[in-house]
Amino acid sequence: MKLSSLATRDPAVPTFNPPHQVPLVAASSFVFESIEQGMSIFDGSVPGHLYGRFGNPTVDAAAAKIAALEGYGLEEPGYGLFCASGMAAIATTLIALCGPGSKILTHGDLYGGSSSLIDQLAAQGIGRIDADIRNCEEVEDKLTEHPEIAVVYLETPSNPTLRCADLAYIADLAHHYGALLVVDNTFATPIIQQPLLLGADIVVHSTTKYMNGHGTGIAGAIVCRDQEFFEEKLKPIYRLYGGSGNPWDAWLVLNGLKTLPLRMERHSDNALRVAEHLLKHEHVARVHYPGLPDHTDCATIGKQMKLHGGMLSFELKGGLEMGKRFMNQLKFCTLTPTLGDVDTLVLHPATMSHRGIPREIRLSHGITDALIRLSVGIEDVEDIIEDIDQALAATKA
Ligand SMILES: *Cc1c(COP(=O)(O)O)cnc(C)c1O
Repeated sequence: MKLSSLATRDPAVPTFNPPHQVPLVAASSFVFESIEQGMSIFDGSVPGHLYGRFGNPTVDAAAAKIAALEGYGLEEPGYGLFCASGMAAIATTLIALCGPGSKILTHGDLYGGSSSLIDQLAAQGIGRIDADIRNCEEVEDKLTEHPEIAVVYLETPSNPTLRCADLAYIADLAHHYGALLVVDNTFATPIIQQPLLLGADIVVHSTTKYMNGHGTGIAGAIVCRDQEFFEEKLKPIYRLYGGSGNPWDAWLVLNGLKTLPLRMERHSDNALRVAEHLLKHEHVARVHYPGLPDHTDCATIGKQMKLHGGMLSFELKGGLEMGKRFMNQLKFCTLTPTLGDVDTLVLHPATMSHRGIPREIRLSHGITDALIRLSVGIEDVEDIIEDIDQALAATKA
């Protein structure tokens, strides 16, 4: 072999005994021993890898772990796909489920990107209907009026108002009217709430948030309960629309998942302490946190959530200026438009995540000018409270 070929060809990888951790397999394709083996892998009669967009050992390991977590307790585990982002997971799912003429029943206080995506689907002939999904009568009315609703798409707790919808009840309603229920479980994670166990058909995730947990990558996931639907509808769209995740992000998520149960406990403990503290503060008009006993949806929360999570929002007395000034006074908490990291993150929805939504509509969903969203981290809670207190004191009403 010539020197230049030696540089090009990789040596055979010795496989003595397996590594303790899932290896990061950075390869765009996989080698066939023979044309016969290649043909068998292509037609699915023999398991194997083909091309990185279709699957990869690291990516598949992340998908399988997320599916196992979401499907824990089901007779058959869920079927998972690891995606390039939360939005890739949501887009893949909605495109697989809806066609021209079908409609999506959803709600106003969605993650901004998801809301815009559903609006964009109008160009493909897919309509949108909004309802207050905590109001089961209203949901049933919409399902009765619009038999073309193919999907009920929801987030619970919602962003940033932390409203909670009754998953078991809505799953039954959706199925009764021939629709499927898709739940974005990013805020709760399967440690707190398992929508598939409550009757949902598909769960989607932005693993960018709690599953990764350390703010080091963008990725997402889909977990589906029905194998046939998974194989025939979801997988082809996943493979062809180009939304598959990459091994590096999968590897980061696999690392993050190891501490997810511990982190969710600490996020929940810290968030409750912060919420209780904020409730007592003279500058604070309202606190939204699923762990507070006077939460408007506490009956639903008690039924379906094991912990209350790290997300909360609160309204300052005073308007937009008050919200902006508070944000600028924070020193310990980080001003950034993401959530679910180990450190405490703050966002002002009116000027950041929800700035594109007309003020009237934003207000009608409870996203007021002085609403602050907090992703409470796992630090010493005294440091978080001290920072909020000093920022509130420095923000004159
Ligand atoms: C961030 C987020 C998304 C979008 O996920 P990306 O990973 O940013 O694409 C979707 N839903 C919720 C609830 C989110 O917080």
